Amino acid sequence: MARGRWVVAREVEELLGERGLRQLDSVETFTCVCGVQGPVDVAPVSVYVEWDQVEGGPPLYRLGLAHPRCRPSKLTRRPGLARALVEAAAAEAPASASAHYGVRALRPRALLVWSPHVQALTSTGAGKLGVDLWLRSHLEAGFRPLRDPLEVAELPVVEGWSLVVGADFLRLADADGAAAYEQDRDPGLAFWVDAAVADGACLAVTGSELGLADALARGEWAAIVRAAEGERLVAGVVRVVVE
Ligand SMILES: [Zn+2]
Repeated sequence: MARGRWVVAREVEELLGERGLRQLDSVETFTCVCGVQGPVDVAPVSVYVEWDQVEGGPPLYRLGLAHPRCRPSKLTRRPGLARALVEAAAAEAPASASAHYGVRALRPRALLVWSPHVQALTSTGAGKLGVDLWLRSHLEAGFRPLRDPLEVAELPVVEGWSLVVGADFLRLADADGAAAYEQDRDPGLAFWVDAAVADGACLAVTGSELGLADALARGEWAAIVRAAEGERLVAGVVRVVVE
């Protein structure tokens, strides 16, 4: 992906650094603040950063992509954002995520990959963004970095988490019972539900890099493989409960 079409203001470029800019290479579509989703390679796309800070805490940033006319490339302080990001990372607001369901040969066979539509980052202090709040909160919950291909990865159980199979919904519930991800039960997912229920467990995988949620919504497996190869995913085994 050529970087020529990205509109990146100097202040945004300085904040993101080489590593932050590199993740744009794997982005193929984006969802603008206006709600329109589109490919990134047909017209210029603006890279913007919003930030906020609660007293005593580190500055928190949200990275987004937009049509230049909808949101210019800019670093903008948005009061209230820090609290919202921390709450979203803790509660994983299920409505703002998308998921992909797959099945592999190894048990647990059922794979659930989910990702939020926004990426929340904080700085390690040296002026470069690097700490992904989403990954950090999941590591604290018991997820582990995914270092092997999904087909062969063996991960420990994430204590307290469950995948609830309801009559008309699928819900990934965290240790507090809150929905980390939820969606309607789709007849097209019968193969996945059968494998998950038979094994009594599924492999839950998540990451929050830009573009991943859109790629999951399109069922683009290559994007998941790229994220896994870049060690940008965390995973764990979650028990399956039929309600
Ligand atoms: Zn727009």
